Order: sequence, then C-alpha cells, then structure tokens
Amino acid sequence: MKLYIVPTPIGNLEDITLRAINVLKSVDVVLAEDTRTSGNLLRHLDISKPMQSYHIHNEHQTITRLLERMLKGETMALVSDAGTPAISDPGFLLVRECIKYKIPVECLPGPTAFVPALVNSGLPCDRFTFEGFLPHKKGRQTRLKELAEEERTMIFYESPHRLVKSLQQFAEYFGAERQACVSRELTKLYEENVRGTLEEIITYFAEKTIKGEIVIVIAGKE
Ligand code: SAM
Repeated sequence: MKLYIVPTPIGNLEDITLRAINVLKSVDVVLAEDTRTSGNLLRHLDISKPMQSYHIHNEHQTITRLLERMLKGETMALVSDAGTPAISDPGFLLVRECIKYKIPVECLPGPTAFVPALVNSGLPCDRFTFEGFLPHKKGRQTRLKELAEEERTMIFYESPHRLVKSLQQFAEYFGAERQACVSRELTKLYEENVRGTLEEIITYFAEKTIKGEIVIVIAGKE
C-alpha cells in the first residue's frame, strides 16, 4: 500500500531517473494525466503496466475508488504529462487524501520546469516564490498588485501566445527596468534563456512567432 509521485522528463527523455524507472516497473498501476502520453513514455522505457486515467476533470470522482484500492494493498504511481505531478498539475488532492487515510506517500525527486529556469536565470535563488499560472481574468490584477511588493524572486508558468502580453503587464506593475529571464523549451533542442530587463525581453520576443513551453523568472523588488 503506497502512492509514489513520479516525475517524468519535461523534454529530454534522458532526464528520467533510474529510481523512477524501477518504481514504474514495481507498482500495480500507473495513474496518468494522459494515458496516451504516458503510454508512449512507458513503451520507450520498455515497461508494460496497467494504466488508469487521473486528470483534473475526474480527480474528485476517482479518488475514493483509488483510496479503497490502495487501502486493500495496491501500490500506485502517479505521473503527469511532463515534470512533477502536483506542480501546476493534478496530484495535490490525491496526496492530501492519502495522508488523511494514512497511506504512505513518496514523491521521487526529478524533472520539473521551474528549478532549471530559476537557476538559469542568474537571479537570487536563496528565496523565491513559485506562482505557477497567473489567473487569466478574475484575481489577476489583485495578484499583480500584491506581487509588486514581493522581494523574493518570482517564477511563473506561461503559454507562448500569452508571453508578450504578460511581460507587458509585469513591466506595468513591476517597472520596465526589473531584471527577468524567460526560459523556453528547457532540456529540448531549441532551449533558450533570454535574460535582461523586462523591456529588453519584450523587445526580443515582440517580433517573433513564439512557440514551445515557457517559464518566466522575475527579480523581486529591491
Ligand atoms: N508539472 C510540470 C512541472 O513540474 O514543471 C508543469 C506542468 S504545467 C501544466 C506546464 C507548464 O510548465 C508549461 O506551460 C510551462 O510553463 C512549464 N514547462 C513545462 N515543460 C517546460 C519546458 N521544457 N520548458 C519550459 N517550460 C516548461
């Protein structure tokens, strides 16, 4: 009886750990955000395991049944499409319920996008705040106003088509001279880390067609 949280690569398949492979081989079932995506990874690793879908749209309904099965002795591994489950991905609810029912939970260390983005940025990483995706509408301005006073380095996930608009908003609330870094396609062939003031980074991306996955890291208020 146990729940493993298993991080999977955010691009480069070599980033899977030996322990992740061993755990995926050992469990009774793999809970996957998208069984097709994770099925491809398992096939690549030559692992054949029963899979069950566990995603944001069914997590509330499936949790009770999963807890019952674990309490009867099954061991499960939760994986997401990429990176560490529960980090801007489903997982938190299941972890919380397992803890409540005294089912052991173990999160393996492994790939996640925000750590390499933070370290690549060259901005202070002794204290930071992970903000994930900002709300799109309701609450966005309130959050930005609060963050204007934040002294720690801030980390945001963002989609490519919203990047420039978000950077412009950050410049408006934090000042165009604030230092930042945009990490795109981390661990992949076209990885790039664009460092500078918000204004410089906006200029860099403004005329480009932006593709791929993005992390924005912004210095805290001085
Ligand atoms: N659970 C994942 C993690 O541990 O980082 C995050 C999942 S969240 C749904 C997806 C977001 O993570 C993307 O929109 C992007 O902001 C960030 N991300 C994931 N992979 C990335 C990569 N290779 N390069 C840059 N950002 C990435």
